[in-house]
Amino acid sequence: MGQKLSCGASLEHVLFKAIQVGDIETVKFLLERDPSLVDQTTVYDRISALHIASTYGQIEVVEMILDQLVNPDIVNRHRQTPLMLAAMHGKISCVEKLLEAGANILMFDSVSGRTCLHYAAYYGHLDCLQAILSAAHSSPVSISWGFARFVNVRDDNGATPLHLAARQRHPDCVHILLNNGGLVCALTSGNRCPGRTPLHLAARGGSLDCVRELLAWGADRIKRDAAGRIPYAIALKYKHGACAALLNPSSAEPLVWPSPLKFISELNPEAKVLLEGALMDANKEREKNILKGTSYSVSSPSASDTDDNVSEISDSELCCICFDQVCTIEVQDCGHQMCAHCTLALCCHNKPNPTSTSQSIPVCPFCRSNIAKLVVVKNNKIESDADIDMDSLKLRKQRKSLNLSEESSSFRGISAIGSFGRIGGRNSGRIAADNNLVVDKP
Ligand SMILES: [Zn+2]
Ligand SMILES: [Zn+2]
Repeated sequence: MGQKLSCGASLEHVLFKAIQVGDIETVKFLLERDPSLVDQTTVYDRISALHIASTYGQIEVVEMILDQLVNPDIVNRHRQTPLMLAAMHGKISCVEKLLEAGANILMFDSVSGRTCLHYAAYYGHLDCLQAILSAAHSSPVSISWGFARFVNVRDDNGATPLHLAARQRHPDCVHILLNNGGLVCALTSGNRCPGRTPLHLAARGGSLDCVRELLAWGADRIKRDAAGRIPYAIALKYKHGACAALLNPSSAEPLVWPSPLKFISELNPEAKVLLEGALMDANKEREKNILKGTSYSVSSPSASDTDDNVSEISDSELCCICFDQVCTIEVQDCGHQMCAHCTLALCCHNKPNPTSTSQSIPVCPFCRSNIAKLVVVKNNKIESDADIDMDSLKLRKQRKSLNLSEESSSFRGISAIGSFGRIGGRNSGRIAADNNLVVDKP
């Protein structure tokens, strides 16, 4: 017994070293010789073999240890679980294995009161973030806590994972968190900079993509933190000029993703990608005008995409609202079709007043029936139409525009909104006039 104790420390040291470098044979040998090693921790930091294996992404060791029915939620001195460390270091296979073994996603460390979701968001490991979110759907957490509450779980400073991803410049994580119910209006608390939204922290971090994502989800540009600062003032203070231009309350409001609409929240993934792309294109077009004249320019892939599509468009079904883009979205149940840009313009509303939450529900611009669902136009439809010659296409266009003018009252309103899709082209003068680009407003 005495002998075992005396060599325990050194054995443990050898084991941890072997785990770190992935020396599976040695790990196996040591654990077979003394199975109790899996439960031992270092004296001061209370680090276990599972912590080491998770940190270094040694999935075989993680499996080996979990097979011995070790508690997956063993904590170190900072109450960090192996799952937190795997999420911190982006070791996705270990994250998945630990989740599979029933690791608790709702443990809080003693450093800042953060969960594994905070770790994944802070360090920007999108795959880990997604794995934890999908585990949250099925784990006991969603029953006891509720999924939405978990997505918006707060640390000791009131920061949600969305706050951290925005601060640390991880737009892809910001996007996924927003898509999963992350609140753009969540406020930090505590002593350090209370009352800040994720947009305040994105302004601090200086990532244009994060700012763009948050604005597209309706983040409020005029919300003040406890010190009275709006995100614009923070971006200026830290010299993030491009972010400041977008955050300037006097610059044009971006289009906002129409998440409150029922058929938008029920979009299938394909249609969602199309519409999200159209939203980003439209907002980037606006940004061009906002950033024009500043030293910041935004590369816009949308412009070249549009050019590439010109030849295809003439061969296929054109959108009858803008006569510019291909019909990609179909309204159900009526079956009328339009392009993603026009669909979005129909559903999106500018945010003239952030306090008004009422939104009029859009109807199909062609027949005024209620929109039950939006789906992507089937490919075979486009392909079969590709055979038609230009004369018949022109005829159809004329016929359709005639039909539309007959339904004038409903269409007039829509075509005004429809011009959003090309706001950068025709309306650029007006937008530019709306902007006081670098006026120093608090
Ligand atoms: Zn269109
Ligand atoms: Zn219709």
